[in-house]
Amino acid sequence: AKSRGRSGLCFYNRQLNAPAVARLRLEAALRRALERNEIDVHFQPKVDRDGRPRSFEALVRWHNPEFGAISPAEFIPIAEEIGQIEPITEFVLARACRLARAWPGELAVAVNLSPRLFHSGELCRRVERALAASGLAPHRLELELTEGILMEKNMRAVAQLQALKALGVRLAVDDFGTGYSSLAYLRRFPLDILKVDKSFVGNCRPDASDAILVRAISSLGRELGLTVVAEGVETRAQWDFLRQAGCDEFQGYLFARPLPAEQTLAWLEQHRHG
Ligand code: C2E
Ligand code: CA
Ligand code: CA
Ligand code: CA
Repeated sequence: AKSRGRSGLCFYNRQLNAPAVARLRLEAALRRALERNEIDVHFQPKVDRDGRPRSFEALVRWHNPEFGAISPAEFIPIAEEIGQIEPITEFVLARACRLARAWPGELAVAVNLSPRLFHSGELCRRVERALAASGLAPHRLELELTEGILMEKNMRAVAQLQALKALGVRLAVDDFGTGYSSLAYLRRFPLDILKVDKSFVGNCRPDASDAILVRAISSLGRELGLTVVAEGVETRAQWDFLRQAGCDEFQGYLFARPLPAEQTLAWLEQHRHG
């Protein structure tokens, strides 16, 4: 057949090389991953300045018998290309909201939204359905967006962010500082949370340029009334520096790796008092 795959490869091309074949096999496996129960969700806590748990971020996991564990950094972009990001996100949203209902108090759950989801008008309805099905209070759901979506001239994306906000959920900018670096959108959009990318957290000697950036970002966030979250916190020294820099919440291996859902309650029990 002359049909072109979504990857743009011609199937009749005799030069179809090994990496391309591997990629096609990966795509085929990803299309069946949900129905084969290969997709799971792990949860990584975020803590406040006193080390008390505030929320968990839902991080998707894919384990395939042939390919092993594949990083979401690798398969999410593929899922976007082959039209699997919608069902995967619905799965993650449903899991996240249902689990959060079982946590005590006001603990929140954060779900990552790929920019591709803003291309259809369905996103808001999907989120609404997940909230309704779980009974989770909307203010306990955070949605993490990347800077790209805020830079889009796409008016549909803008309208959808406002509609999401109107549901009562909280909106976070993820990986802040790595994108297009226009600060104007921080005022234009109804944001609540700013997550400083972990690439700035690594080198936190107070005189390092990363440290200067982290301080500038957190004071900017504070001025705008946003909750500033630092991710990728691995050491006590980093945590101390980030607290001094004015960050409000912290996430990283220092506190916990992403945990299987069944372990979140036990972790909370151990960390109740910060
Ligand atoms: P992200 O949203 O920036 O998530 C943070 C990543 O940093 C996670 O990697 C997490 O496991 C890792 N991390 C957490 N603490 C530390 C630390 O102290 N040190 C270091 N070095 N890394 C840390 P993960 O789980 O592999 O996810 C990678 C990316 O995949 C995420 O980056 C996010 O962009 C994407 N992703 C994950 N789950 C989903 C999802 O359900 N939907 C969408 N659209 N994207 C997702
Ligand atoms: Ca995230
Ligand atoms: Ca991030
Ligand atoms: Ca990231």
